[in-house]
Amino acid sequence: MTAAASLVVVCLNADAPASSVSRVLDQLGVGANDPRWRRHGDKLLSVRAIDMSDGRVERVRELPCVRQVVPLPKAESIFECWSDELKKVELSSGAVFGGSAPTVIAGPCSVESEAQLLETAHRVAAAGAQVLRGSVFKPRSSPFDFGGLGAEGLEHLALARDKTGLPVVTEVLDSSHLDLVSRHVDMFQIGSRNMQNSSLLFEIAAHESGLPILLKRGLAATLDEVVQAVAYVLLGRLSAGHDRPGVVLCERGIRTFERSTRFTLDVGAIPILQKRSGLPVIADPSHAAGTDDLVAPLARAALAAGADGLIVEVHPDPEHAWCDGAQSLTFDAFEALMAAPLRTA
Ligand code: PEP
Ligand code: MN
Repeated sequence: MTAAASLVVVCLNADAPASSVSRVLDQLGVGANDPRWRRHGDKLLSVRAIDMSDGRVERVRELPCVRQVVPLPKAESIFECWSDELKKVELSSGAVFGGSAPTVIAGPCSVESEAQLLETAHRVAAAGAQVLRGSVFKPRSSPFDFGGLGAEGLEHLALARDKTGLPVVTEVLDSSHLDLVSRHVDMFQIGSRNMQNSSLLFEIAAHESGLPILLKRGLAATLDEVVQAVAYVLLGRLSAGHDRPGVVLCERGIRTFERSTRFTLDVGAIPILQKRSGLPVIADPSHAAGTDDLVAPLARAALAAGADGLIVEVHPDPEHAWCDGAQSLTFDAFEALMAAPLRTA
């Protein structure tokens, strides 16, 4: 491999015929059975370790079936395709992650009923939250625990959005739900259990809605693995021709030997991920804490470390919540958290 050998991502035109892949590979001098090349969905391929010094990349760029060719000095350079667009993620309502002030997402762990969600939405909006959360497809450890209201819950989310003006984020577990979910929400969430589900990452990113994505750190994922998960999302965006990365990362605690908290909030991950990915990074003190009394101190620690926002679980009656009641804040506790200055530095 020469110094010029590198990685190249080739985006095909939407109407490119199937034979385009072999034309591109021919130009690059790579055989069909060469393990250096890989397909990403229908219209994107990447090829590793090719010599870029002899004009072959330029020849690929000229092929009529090719929309874009992105040479990358190394895998992480995919972030440089966007640079400025990485820093800020704006929802259609105008809520912004990565602006000068932290943005707070709040709401129940799971949507239980229209009344529960509407009451929560009104109260968190009044307390200053800018985005409403609520899961309707729940990744539960046990198959016998409540798995979410599904499509009915999406109706409640859309209603809460209409009534309060708050944009809505909800978790997607399966790409077959994307069309339906995209009609009801403003942002997709990829939960920690799916951070390394590469086909889901790619398909959510490539979805025609182009909706922003909240990507939670896997509960045992290293920061390198988080950055690589983002690379899948960025490839998905490229493949669909979306011009914005629209990704917000979330540190939500990792599994360590310590059992006094549900997970260990890795505060150091916040500035490191901001630097390495260029993306806004928020924190989830609720899932890290596991108990309501620790949510505010962890939230403040994350904000002191420079987090671009928070995602906090809030419930009208935490004791009777169908999921994650122990870590859910009452309305009063959430109001108290929001009343203190969120970021002092
Ligand atoms: C959630 O935010 O609803 C959730 C399930 O969190 P995590 O994926 O971080 O466990
Ligand atoms: Mn939860």
